Order: sequence, then structure tokens, then C-alpha cells
Amino acid sequence: MAQYQNILVAVDLSEESSSVIDRARQIAQAGTQLHLIHVIEPLSFAYGGDIPMDFSGIQDEIHEQASAQLKRFAQSHDIEPARQHLLLGKPDVEIQALAEELDADLIVVGSHGRSGLALLMGSTANGVLHGAKRDVLAVRIGK
Ligand code: AMP
Repeated sequence: MAQYQNILVAVDLSEESSSVIDRARQIAQAGTQLHLIHVIEPLSFAYGGDIPMDFSGIQDEIHEQASAQLKRFAQSHDIEPARQHLLLGKPDVEIQALAEELDADLIVVGSHGRSGLALLMGSTANGVLHGAKRDVLAVRIGK
């Protein structure tokens, strides 16, 4: 079987993110490119677009924190800045879109994320899998 050339690893920056990227590394071979994506969900999504207050300051702060966190995470896992992607939107949609743009041949996600084990499979993992035009690996998180 041909090796993967271009792997997109989706991380929610929770503690489990290291297991997700470690698994991707095990699959990667010499010459395989690893890209990292983290998606920030706009506050307006949680409030159905109808926000009674101006949350733009908080949104900017969330963006700055996520950016710093992603940078730290990427550095500790040896992913160069050009392969770090911070996007705004719905995680599964943005992960799919970036995978298209990069022509990734594998998307790696965790089976569960911050939303925990309450769901059989995390909603993001599910969403990515359902619309997938490429291989998807859901790294088993938890017991
Ligand atoms: P969840 O849907 O929260 O259970 O998360 C399952 C997996 O989807 C996580 O382990 C990540 O691989 C990915 N994921 C969840 N949220 C994000 C996010 N905001 N940005 C990038 N990947 C995410």
C-alpha cells in the first residue's frame, strides 16, 4: 500500500492531543508532510448568531490564547509554522475544507475530545468521517 504523503492532524489542544499527533507520527514515513489544524468556534455559534452583547473583545482574546497554545504545541511536536493552521468556524467543516485545500491524503482526529466520552464517538470525529473524501483515522482516546 502506498504511504501517506500529506497528513492533516486535527487537535482540540486538550491533553489528548499528544496521543493524536503521536499516532500520526507513527504512520508518517520519510518525506510525509504533517499539518496541524486547530479550529476556534465563534461565540456567535453558541448563541445562534443572536448575541445581546459585543463579544468581539472576548473573541479576540480566545483567538490570541488559542494561537499561543497551538504554537507551543506545534513547537513541542516539531511542526513548523507554515504547517500550523488556526481557523475560525465549525471544526468538522474547517477540517474537511483544509484537507481539500492541502490535498491531504489522511485526516487524523481523536475519537473523543473535550466533549468527553459521553458520546460514542466525538461529534467532530463523526462529522469529519461522514463528509470524508479521503481516509480518516480516529485515534482511540480513553478506555
Ligand atoms: P470531540 O468532537 O470534541 O469529541 O473531538 C474529537 C476529536 O476531534 C478531537 O480529538 C480532535 O482530533 C478533533 N477536534 C475537536 N475539536 C476540534 C477543534 N476545535 N479543532 C480541531 N480539531 C478538533
